[in-house]
Amino acid sequence: MKKIFLADHAGYCFGVKRAMKLAWDELENRENKNIFALGPLIHNKQAVEKYEEKGLITINDIEDIDSKNVNPKEVIIRSHGVAKEVYDQANEKKLEIVDTTCPFVKKIHELAKESYEKGKKIILIGDKNHPEVIGINGWCDNKAIIVKELKELFDIELDYSVEYVVVSQTTMNEREFDVIIDYLKDKNINMVVNNTICSATKVRQQSAREISNKVDLMIVIGGKHSSNTQKLVSICKESVDTIAIETKADLIDFDLGKYDTIGVTAGASTPDWIIEETIEYIENGVI
Ligand code: SF4
Repeated sequence: MKKIFLADHAGYCFGVKRAMKLAWDELENRENKNIFALGPLIHNKQAVEKYEEKGLITINDIEDIDSKNVNPKEVIIRSHGVAKEVYDQANEKKLEIVDTTCPFVKKIHELAKESYEKGKKIILIGDKNHPEVIGINGWCDNKAIIVKELKELFDIELDYSVEYVVVSQTTMNEREFDVIIDYLKDKNINMVVNNTICSATKVRQQSAREISNKVDLMIVIGGKHSSNTQKLVSICKESVDTIAIETKADLIDFDLGKYDTIGVTAGASTPDWIIEETIEYIENGVI
């Protein structure tokens, strides 16, 4: 009999749970409204499909919304948040806004905006292509210095005449963040560090690390485009064989037979039902 360990804090975090509920409530009460999501609601294809079946229309750009159509229109801003200019565009188009930006991300927007307006320079530790990072940068006029890895800082000329304010993408790996901060401290620049890595991310990464130290195999469930899922994968890989899956169907061709102890964790955009189905498959092998 296999031993299965499910990590604490696997699956939806507070911010995603809140955003998904707000969006679902809108869809339940939509009457004749067209409801758009600006980008996939979360990085989980299966969950997004459920919302689309209920009537949600996913778009990639607010310009894709045709204002001439007579039905009232509403745009959902997802938990990652967006730049200030997106709110301006939505207001210009007279769209109703349902803002599901996670309150923790909102705080970073405020910090970036206030600091920038006071003449400070923002260093944003994160992935420049991630929607959350693009959104944060949009609150400081897209002027943040964005770095994901220490080596990216080597080519940047630091200015000793200004004050830097450091913030982070909420899902950054804590260790990578610390390495970058240590480097900046050594450079003796004038800076204020705000570790804005979300506590949900920290505890999720910590429990994935703990479990991966006591099992033969880790299974990480989450969307292929989910940054926090990919970070869990790399953390688990430091200790043990690790596979990344989106659903239990990805396990069909994988030989679980040779593993006695299996750990399971999941990214912040993975619904409970996908985690439950996966555990059931590991236990019983039935799709
Ligand atoms: S990981 Fe944290 S910051 Fe991001 S949505 Fe979840 S609760 Fe909010």
